[in-house]
Amino acid sequence: MNSGEPAIKEPCLVCFSCSKKESISSIKWRCECGSFFNVEHSPNMNFERDDNSLTGVWRYRDTIPINCGDAIISMGEGGTPLPQVDWLGRSVYVKLDMLFPTGSYKDRGATGMISRANHLGVEKVVEDSSGNAGCSVAAYCAACKIPCDIFVPASTSKAKLGQIDAYGATLRLIDGSREDVAAAAGKAAMSGSAYYASHVWDPFFFQGTKTFAYEVYEQLQRRAPDTVVIPTGNGTLLIGAYLGFEELHRHGLISKIPRLIAVQADRCAPIHLKHVPRANPQPWKKTAAEGIAIAKPVRIDQILSYVEATAGEVVAVDEQSIVDARNLAGEKGLFIEPTSATALAALEMISFAPDETVVVPLTGHGLK
Ligand SMILES: *Cc1c(COP(=O)(O)O)cnc(C)c1O
Ligand SMILES: [Zn+2]
Repeated sequence: MNSGEPAIKEPCLVCFSCSKKESISSIKWRCECGSFFNVEHSPNMNFERDDNSLTGVWRYRDTIPINCGDAIISMGEGGTPLPQVDWLGRSVYVKLDMLFPTGSYKDRGATGMISRANHLGVEKVVEDSSGNAGCSVAAYCAACKIPCDIFVPASTSKAKLGQIDAYGATLRLIDGSREDVAAAAGKAAMSGSAYYASHVWDPFFFQGTKTFAYEVYEQLQRRAPDTVVIPTGNGTLLIGAYLGFEELHRHGLISKIPRLIAVQADRCAPIHLKHVPRANPQPWKKTAAEGIAIAKPVRIDQILSYVEATAGEVVAVDEQSIVDARNLAGEKGLFIEPTSATALAALEMISFAPDETVVVPLTGHGLK
């Protein structure tokens, strides 16, 4: 090994708050102190595989610190296109992450998380979601025949409910806030009979979403973009993007981690509020961007630390601009859900240098 390379670490889980370590195969969904785990490891960043039997997300399986072997549950997800479009006079790259088996990028995370659960022999799964994560977990559990219960707000769009049902998952509709839904799922998990495969808590979800960064890097001819603009609620894509770019940077493959811009809907913008505190904040309201309407993001401090580490920003967009951006996207042949349109709407609120390379993930399909 060259002396300049990072030291090899035994993979483990490490608590974000108290730094307590757990085995990489632990099925605990949170630390005794109440905080969440992250994965600590030294990924193998050699992307040149001679065996191309797995494409997309699992092309990067050497970077994922558990050897799932035959337990990998894959539907060929990932490897999504990165075309350039003109957006109000600026050329941006859009990553078509609505083109996943279930119609959102959540499949990146679910394939990682459910493959590991399958590898560990989990017999039952619970998850809570405002929609798309539930669709992904239900699909990947169906693919490996692990029964799952998906807790969702009673207000979730009919298309997403129908989709979760189609995968044979048990739907648990909960009246109340998104936090009430999470509490109900957490309680079911706490009773000990099921594994809490939570896209928010389970650090292996982020080991899947980090492949977003690897794909962008390879598609840009082994360069990092300058800026990535990401719809953010619980931060499952933003955190994954940071992890992927950070690993590329740590291994000397890119010279800097892109600036990460977290985009929220101003009707539900707790990350924005913490980043830019203001007097008398209004109570949150219902927004068309249902996928990121998260009033109490568990990983808010982690999200803000990554935004700050990359000299990024948090931007809040209004309802009208979300609708306008969704319509304009349609006129360019891109059919996306309102949640995804927030990132395009944010482009008008961010200052860019003229030659900046900007990537915007289009996270969810308009059909839902
Ligand atoms: C989940 C999701 C996001 C990002 O949400 P996080 O809560 O930050 O993980 C963005 N767009 C769509 C369509 C989603 O489903
Ligand atoms: Zn802890």
